[in-house]
Amino acid sequence: MALGMKVTNLDFYYGKSKALENINLDIPANQVTALIGPSGCGKSTFLRNLNRMNDLIDGTKVEGQIYLEDKDILDKDVDVVDLRKKIGMVFQKPNPFPKSIYENVIYGPKRHGIKNKAELDEIVEKSLKGAALWEEAKDKLHKSAYELSGGQQQRLCIARVLAVKPEIILMDEPTSALDPISTMKIEELIQELKKNYTVVIVTHNMQQAGRISDRTVFFLNGRIIEADLTENIFYNPKDKRTEDYISGRFG
Ligand code: ADP
Repeated sequence: MALGMKVTNLDFYYGKSKALENINLDIPANQVTALIGPSGCGKSTFLRNLNRMNDLIDGTKVEGQIYLEDKDILDKDVDVVDLRKKIGMVFQKPNPFPKSIYENVIYGPKRHGIKNKAELDEIVEKSLKGAALWEEAKDKLHKSAYELSGGQQQRLCIARVLAVKPEIILMDEPTSALDPISTMKIEELIQELKKNYTVVIVTHNMQQAGRISDRTVFFLNGRIIEADLTENIFYNPKDKRTEDYISGRFG
C-alpha cells in the first residue's frame, strides 16, 4: 500500500491574491484522484502545494495543513528534498534532461547517494518496466532521451519519478502535449501505477477524468465545489455548478 494525503483548511496566496480558499480534501491511498475545473481555478496551484513546489515561487503564502500519513508536510522541519522524493511530479510537457535514457532514470537515485552500478542497473530496469517503457528502451539505454517520441519521453519522466520510490505521483496535465495513442498508453499506465502508488492528476479533459479516476474533485475560483466518486460527479452531481460544468455549460 502507498500512503494517502489529507488536506485541511488550506488557503494559498500569490502575493495578496488568494488562489485557494478553505480547501479540505482526502486523497485516498492507491486511488487516482482527478482535479478538474475551468482554466485558472487553482488546480495546478493546489497540485503544486502537495509537494511544496510553490516554495520555489517568491511571495507565496500558505495556511492550513497537508498531511502525508500523520505528518504535516507544511511544517518547517520537513526536508523538502526528501518530501519530493516521496511525492514526485510529472509535468505537462515531457522534460527529460539532455542526457541518456539511463542517466535520466538514475539522476534521482544518484543524488540520493546510490553509486553501486549493479544497484543502479536494477533501478533502471525496474523503473522503466514500471513506466511501461522497458521494451522500447532496453536496447538504447545509453542513447539520448531526446531520441524518444513525446509519449515515450513522458513515460521516461514517470520512470524518473519511480526510480526514487515515491508514495504519491502528482501529474499536471501529463497528456495534453501528446497524440491520442500516446495518451492512451499513459492512461493505461496510470491504471497500473495505482496498484503501487497514489496518483493525483490535473486534467482539462473531462473524458480522461471519467476514464481513469476513482475520485474527481471539481474546482471553481480557488475552491472545491464538490469532491466525490467519479461516477457521482459525472452522473449524479450534488451541486448545480458541478452539473453545469460537467454538461459543458461553461469552462
Ligand atoms: P489552473 O491550474 O486551474 O488553470 P492555476 O493554479 O494555474 O489554475 O491558477 C490559479 C490562479 O492563480 C490564476 O488566477 C492564476 O493566474 C494564478 N497564478 C498561477 N500561477 C501564478 C504565479 N506563479 N504567480 C501569480 N499568480 C499565479
